[in-house]
Amino acid sequence: GSQQKVEVNVLLLGAESVGKSALTVRFLTRRFIGEYGDIESIYSHTDRIDGREICFNIWDSLCSQNGEGEGHISERQLQWTDGFILVYSICDRASFNVVQQQVQRIRQAKSKFPGTPPIIIVGNKRDLQHRRTVSSEEGRILALSTDCGFFEISAAETYHGVLLVFHELLDLIREARALK
Ligand code: GDP
Ligand code: MG
Repeated sequence: GSQQKVEVNVLLLGAESVGKSALTVRFLTRRFIGEYGDIESIYSHTDRIDGREICFNIWDSLCSQNGEGEGHISERQLQWTDGFILVYSICDRASFNVVQQQVQRIRQAKSKFPGTPPIIIVGNKRDLQHRRTVSSEEGRILALSTDCGFFEISAAETYHGVLLVFHELLDLIREARALK
């Protein structure tokens, strides 16, 4: 009937060690386990949101190992995904630069996304305030100037922030679909 299942493909991108796998596992299991290894995988997770079954397919990517350089996004990834979560660590300036590059690359892939590509920028490791090198302001300004959502979270400390990230992305993906 009208309550048919909605399926969304979500691609997690960002530099190494920023917490992409921690964020994914938090969303899937509500837990933080500490070490995740280097596994590239697509996970499926179904949630009931506002009375509707939503199936998230989550591609937890690894940084490009094929000489394309850090932050490269493959054509296959672009074609597969409906929306992006771009993760940096608030204590890793280089990882913030990677996210800046990735936003530009996604914005250039216009054929796939006729409107605004659904993107959430995430500053992770918010619990490590004493080691912060990227201010909240910088993150917020990047998101505002590129029309992306923005959250600072700690995948290590809370589930709630992670949930907000996925729900906000879902909203953006639905808006994008409504425009098609
Ligand atoms: P990935 O390479 O982007 O998938 O990063 P991982 O998820 O494997 O995390 C890299 C390291 O950062 C691991 O040691 C995690 O335990 C740690 N980590 C991930 N998220 C957080 C966080 O929010 N706070 C802190 N303090 N450490 C985190
Ligand atoms: Mg990982």
